[in-house]
Amino acid sequence: MAQSDWKPATLAAQAAGAVDPQSGAVVPPIQPSTTFARDRDYELVNPDNTYLRYHNDAVRVAEKVLCGLERAADSLVFPSGMAAIAAVMRTVPNGGRVLLQSGIYWGTTKWVRAFCARREIVLEEVEASDTGALRAACEAGPVSLVFVETPSNPWLRTVDIAAAADLAHAAGAALVVDSTAATPILSHPLALGADIVMHSATKAINGHTDVLGGVLSCRTPGALWDEIRDDRDGAGAVMGPFEAWLLVRGMRTLPLRVERMCQTAQALAEYLDDHPGVAAVLYPGLPSHPGHDLAARQMTGGFGYLLSVLVKGGREDALRVAGRLNLFHRATSLGGVESLVEHRHTIEPHTGIPENLLRLSIGIEDAGDLRADLGQALGQ
Ligand SMILES: *Cc1c(COP(=O)(O)O)cnc(C)c1O
Repeated sequence: MAQSDWKPATLAAQAAGAVDPQSGAVVPPIQPSTTFARDRDYELVNPDNTYLRYHNDAVRVAEKVLCGLERAADSLVFPSGMAAIAAVMRTVPNGGRVLLQSGIYWGTTKWVRAFCARREIVLEEVEASDTGALRAACEAGPVSLVFVETPSNPWLRTVDIAAAADLAHAAGAALVVDSTAATPILSHPLALGADIVMHSATKAINGHTDVLGGVLSCRTPGALWDEIRDDRDGAGAVMGPFEAWLLVRGMRTLPLRVERMCQTAQALAEYLDDHPGVAAVLYPGLPSHPGHDLAARQMTGGFGYLLSVLVKGGREDALRVAGRLNLFHRATSLGGVESLVEHRHTIEPHTGIPENLLRLSIGIEDAGDLRADLGQALGQ
């Protein structure tokens, strides 16, 4: 069976066939050397390696796994999700026009606003889960880049990727999709027409809350992709060997973890939706969610591990529930094996996040234990 036929679980578990031919180890080694020798004739001992900023075996293994899972033409790993986003944004020419989905991961919005202001790039924030609003923005003039995030964090809004790709392309733009909340297991934005898919590998891809990382994958290599690769290697936004090795180890269980996280998230979303202490649950797996049908088409095998809960009452009620939780850690971030709760309004009080919103990242603990913890925190 050719490796290209391997299913995601096989590809991930076997790290895309990575073994150490020298020792026979079934786990690839960590190679920390920053430089690689030449022989007496000044030929490279290994023609693939000269200097660690350009050539890192552990990063190559991680990229091979991610490229296979994403069904991409190529993948590039970065030292954080934001470094990956910055690498894409740096391709926009001065004076260009960027359409950014509104109400997405606050770190993206904040950095892109500052970057565009500095580079005199026209930035328009658009509610891209409304295809009509995105169409109007795309038809208003030429666009360099359209950036969407689906499902979005923390609103869990869903964007029609195929429609967004058509609109972006008609406006002369590339479509970039931040698919962090969907993972490469549940959604394949490139197959729907996106040009580049981005993930914060810090989240479910690594999944163990111990590595910062990011990844970009492309549908078709070309000038844009070459520019991103050259900029990464030249400007040095590269991941180190230890982090890349940990990332590869974490990814071996990615399909298993995502499957369990989705099952538990779905069950908890349904439980919370019926709970008298809850005003609303934002989760695309609920039939009442406005993006449910779209998410069902765009995501296969589950609706993700992220959900937001509007607690009945106000800020104090939400903080009281968060404070009573025993299993959920009160911490930012998402996608790890341990469940987390976050009161986003405390972090971004000025962005319109409701004061009674708690974002939950569902881990791989026992679903009954998590449900009991939520039940006691909400007061049954
Ligand atoms: C965390 C996150 C990022 C940024 O990734 P880092 O690895 O923290 O730099 C971008 N997008 C989404 C949706 C995220 O959750």
